[in-house]
Amino acid sequence: MGLLSVIVPCFNEEENINDFYSELMKNASFFEQEDLELEIWFIDDGSKDGTVSAIKKLKEKDQRVRMLSFSRNFGKEAAMFAGLEKAKGDYVVIMDVDLQDPPSLLPQMYSHIKEGYDSVATRRVTRKGEPPIRSFFARCFYRLMKHISKTEIMDGARDYRMMTRQMVDAILQMQEYNRFTKGIYGWVGFETKWLEYENVERTKGETKWNFWKLLIYSVEGITAFSTAPLMFASFMGVLFCVLAFAMIIFTIFRKIVFGDPVSGWPSLVCIISLVSGVQLFCLGILGQYLSKTYMEVKKRPIYLVKEEI
Ligand code: UDP
Ligand code: MG
Repeated sequence: MGLLSVIVPCFNEEENINDFYSELMKNASFFEQEDLELEIWFIDDGSKDGTVSAIKKLKEKDQRVRMLSFSRNFGKEAAMFAGLEKAKGDYVVIMDVDLQDPPSLLPQMYSHIKEGYDSVATRRVTRKGEPPIRSFFARCFYRLMKHISKTEIMDGARDYRMMTRQMVDAILQMQEYNRFTKGIYGWVGFETKWLEYENVERTKGETKWNFWKLLIYSVEGITAFSTAPLMFASFMGVLFCVLAFAMIIFTIFRKIVFGDPVSGWPSLVCIISLVSGVQLFCLGILGQYLSKTYMEVKKRPIYLVKEEI
């Protein structure tokens, strides 16, 4: 008999808890048939609505329900990490509570695990129902990451994934504070089977992400899994040194040959603003890495627990 841990991060999702549970339980005969025991970890990420009481009510109905409640909102990354720490299962699956990760895929995922894969991940092939501008930037992000990072980060990858105990233990060894799970999965390696499906829209409630949050999250991804921007900053430095050197030679040459009087105020202003722009940009890149390093060095806990059931 194997134990399957289901990890469900929840943030202000009171209306989704019950729907999720009943959808998951549609697989009950599958769990039975495969001799799979179940534990369902709801990770309440500091919800302000009735999420906690909805989970507690569910707990009365089903003893396999577990809950970890954070002292405040720490973000989905922290919730997933907490869930992985708590899960005891031989197999662990992470899924959203809003039913965008269809529980009906579980049997298929499990069958691939039985085939010998270490993890079965999902990616959506369409971005139906998403604002076009967001899809556009998401595509740009993945294309950029493909070029600047050695770690494989799949376009359209969801956090919906089933893993073996071995892979979960590997992920838990990565204790970094700035977590970008999509990169962490790629970094630890192991054999992953990708399942593709069409995007499913959220049933109830609202997405917790907006454009700015996603933009900041993408910077997290870049700084966590690539040092190419630092390389770029150094490259710009070298490039401008070479340009400046060429200009010095040119100016001296012009003075000697043509005896040019002082002129060229507009070009000077252009050059100064360009170069200071590039300088500030590179300083900003440096600042990003420094700030991430600062947060890592502080070794703050990734989450704080208020209640555990
Ligand atoms: N979530 C969370 N903490 C947060 C934001 C989201 O635990 O700070 C959970 C949320 O409850 C849901 C999952 O993460 O179960 C995905 O969130 P959402 O549906 O808002 O993201 P999207 O599907 O739009 O990417
Ligand atoms: Mg969602």
